[in-house]
Amino acid sequence: MGILSWLFGGKKKDDEFNRYQKNTQRNSNYSQRKSNHSQNNSNPKCTTCSSHVYKKEHTQCYSCWRKANPKPKKERGTPPSTIKSYNRIIKMVSISSGQDPNLLTEDNFKEILCNKYNFQEDSVKGIINSPIARSMLQWD
Ligand SMILES: [Zn+2]
Repeated sequence: MGILSWLFGGKKKDDEFNRYQKNTQRNSNYSQRKSNHSQNNSNPKCTTCSSHVYKKEHTQCYSCWRKANPKPKKERGTPPSTIKSYNRIIKMVSISSGQDPNLLTEDNFKEILCNKYNFQEDSVKGIINSPIARSMLQWD
């Protein structure tokens, strides 16, 4: 047996080498299949749970994102004129009570609108209870 055949092995070693190659091939096929199966696994993980995000530029997985960004409510369809008139009322109450609009309370509205502007108590309640006004005043 010469040095070359010793280095490169006989037939038996070739078989082993072939088997090794086949194995690595099978293994890489296997891991490829596996990564195709859970396709996002090179993406970063969600900041809320440990799922991989759907796209690399996302910070949260779809279900966490959905929870954090609920669909907008019906208020979206509020006509601008309604918002304008609520704004005017809030401004009126704010100026008359000397309060910052963010600090206004339901009592401020009742007091100012009923006593100063002769609003009906019911309509003041309507304003206070409206989801639009409440969201504008950050009461909810
Ligand atoms: Zn998540």
